[in-house]
Amino acid sequence: MRLFDAGVTYPNGTVALQPTSLEFAEGVFTILLGPSGAGKSTLLRSLNGIVPLSQGQVASAHLGVLRNARQWREHRRKTGMIFQQHQLIGRLTALANVLMGRLGHHSTLRSLLPLSVDEKRMALEALDRVGLLDYALRRADQLSGGQQQRVGIARALAQAPNLILADEPVASLDPATAERVLALLHGICRQDGLSAIISLHQVELARQFADRIIGINGGHVVFDGPPDRLGEDAIRRIYDGTSIPQKNPSAAYELEMTP
Ligand code: ADP
Repeated sequence: MRLFDAGVTYPNGTVALQPTSLEFAEGVFTILLGPSGAGKSTLLRSLNGIVPLSQGQVASAHLGVLRNARQWREHRRKTGMIFQQHQLIGRLTALANVLMGRLGHHSTLRSLLPLSVDEKRMALEALDRVGLLDYALRRADQLSGGQQQRVGIARALAQAPNLILADEPVASLDPATAERVLALLHGICRQDGLSAIISLHQVELARQFADRIIGINGGHVVFDGPPDRLGEDAIRRIYDGTSIPQKNPSAAYELEMTP
């Protein structure tokens, strides 16, 4: 994925993402850090077109610059989204929720027909990978928070994605469960060579799992580098940056770019 000079201003005038160019290499586990309101969700949502750019362009590794609705649809079909509140349908089984991940692969008419045995096999395999095969027929609202988020991961995997985008996927879990769920997602991405871009608010989890950390403050990228470069200075830039003048960020912050 690439962002070229991408900026987002919401209709109410809030500048959520200042013009930003970033390249996300294949197979890299990238974590976005930043205070609340920094622009992490906006950046993630712009990468799958939920939030349209006000300027600049998005390019996918597989489709090039995304210019029209058909290309965006194709890109979204191969992009697994994982949300903080996992957005499962509580009264449906874990399996039915995972099967939702397959719907984007069909035309509207086809999706009204029963899903094939192959589709169900893919969904069950995805549940197996997150350790929930035995819970496939359990209602989603009868699962624990950690299990529900694992169903959310399985639903994303059932899309056979090229890319995973996750917006605060472990924010509503207790610390031990958060670490286990993130370790699971990390292991799967590693195994499949999947690119992932994940926003988190736990710095320690970012240090533990990220290949690359991108720090955002006030819609600007203020740090970009591997975890071992994330020192005290960088943490201050990411979390206290509001006191630093925003006019000319590249002068105020010495960006640490990945090679
Ligand atoms: P983060 O994910 O880092 O908490 P967001 O991307 O959600 O940050 O928000 C960035 C900024 O954009 C914040 O000032 C937020 O209030 C604003 N914002 C987010 N969504 C909208 C929206 N739909 N309309 C207007 N402003 C928004």
